Amino acid sequence: MVFPEPLTRLIRNLSRLPGLGEKSATRLALYLLRRPQEEVLELAESLKEMREKVRLCQKCFNFSASPLCDICQDPQRDSRLICVVEDPAALSSIEAAGVFSGLYHVLHGVLSPRDGIGPKEIRIPDLIERIRKEAIKEVILALSPTVAGEATASYLVEILRDLSVRITRLACGIPMGMDIRYADKLTLKRALEGRQIL
Ligand SMILES: [Zn+2]
Repeated sequence: MVFPEPLTRLIRNLSRLPGLGEKSATRLALYLLRRPQEEVLELAESLKEMREKVRLCQKCFNFSASPLCDICQDPQRDSRLICVVEDPAALSSIEAAGVFSGLYHVLHGVLSPRDGIGPKEIRIPDLIERIRKEAIKEVILALSPTVAGEATASYLVEILRDLSVRITRLACGIPMGMDIRYADKLTLKRALEGRQIL
């Protein structure tokens, strides 16, 4: 490599990012090198701050910079309603649609026995504990209709059956195999409004 070590180091680190091979990592590093110093330092500082401050909300496991996330802290939200999502990106899509006023529970994954991902790996015990401890009236399963999403939803219906809570899932406005993270606002709105009791 013809580059000095600090540049090679950056290229090496960038090329570990998803979707960036060595060529595009090199292009990106050379681009950054040409940018004004304060802009690059701001980027570095934001990476550092993100890593140091962003944690999981103690209640819903959404990303948060404080022990409880903004949604869990909002007194306007209906704490009797919990929407179960696969990850913070799915939560963010539903929030962006602006049609849900309850709280969330972020699983951080879906069941995948083949990859060793069982209920304990995806915050299902925490969900059961929340339902037991908090006065929750309804649990809305908002998992993507993929094979793994469906399997996770069926499992949840089975284990939540004995708890005195209504279980619903999004209506079929979301096509089979589609990822909720990429669903548009109107589709999400219809799916939530038309949710069905299980
Ligand atoms: Zn939260």
